[in-house]
Amino acid sequence: MTHVTERWQLKGKRALVTGGTKGIGLAVASELASLGAEVFIVARKQIEVSTVTGKIDSSCGMACDISDRLQREKLVSAVMKQWGSLDILVNNAGMNIRKPTTGYSDDEYDIIMDTNLRSAWDLCRKLHPMLRDSKQGNIVNISSVAGQTSVRTGVVYGMTKSAMIHMTKYLAAEWADDNIRVNAVAPWYISTPLAEVVLRESEYRDEVISRTPLKKIGDPADVAAAVAFLCMPAASYITGQTINVDGGFTIYGF
Ligand code: NAP
Repeated sequence: MTHVTERWQLKGKRALVTGGTKGIGLAVASELASLGAEVFIVARKQIEVSTVTGKIDSSCGMACDISDRLQREKLVSAVMKQWGSLDILVNNAGMNIRKPTTGYSDDEYDIIMDTNLRSAWDLCRKLHPMLRDSKQGNIVNISSVAGQTSVRTGVVYGMTKSAMIHMTKYLAAEWADDNIRVNAVAPWYISTPLAEVVLRESEYRDEVISRTPLKKIGDPADVAAAVAFLCMPAASYITGQTINVDGGFTIYGF
């Protein structure tokens, strides 16, 4: 067995984090970097990518809309050119449009699916050769408790997050022979720009807190810690799992 300090660090690892300029993705990128990894960050605005890479040591990045197939291809080429190898992929970028089921247009359905699910599926496949060559590859998919139970997010978002959990199980089984571990993290409410849109309604916020045993909204660092753990040698016997970072929300029956 390796020494404890070897098991709890990410020195020399190279990690791609989608949606790394804000909220959970920013916290994940910072956490991985402070544990020794080099990080490659993507989001849609170059100015925001540059601001973040200017603040995180050993980081680089590019503007990329991960919902767009051609832009994803450019991203994969850029990672190949920058590093030629990859150890960690964090599929974090996501969005939502909250509506009653009958109110969704086809375009709205497509953009939620493309951003949250198709991007993750496609990046896993396109980056598979680099992750396999790493011999210690790791994928972490950022799902949601909305992928496990109905939490008023709108059905399409819930469908994408549920499919991510199932994709995690399938890829974990299929790619175990390639030494790629695949896990997911499923947060409940975390204080980020995405969540603030709904949490700024004080009645709703109070209801969320009252339904959460730990009686608070989560912090992006709470999610980042779980992601980092899953990527470490310390988690080397864990694959295909979903860790709920939810203050106990999903176990709170009564
Ligand atoms: P956020 O604050 O809105 O940040 C999202 C990040 O993704 C930003 O960097 C954003 O930058 C980027 N992004 C969005 N669309 C993109 C696209 N098409 N291409 C590239 N980058 C894109 O969101 P968050 O709350 O941190 O959420 C992160 C993930 O956690 C999401 O998958 C979300 O579903 C999941 N989650 C969040 C919560 C929560 O309570 N916050 C709970 C459960 C699950 P640009 O907009 O500049 O591109």
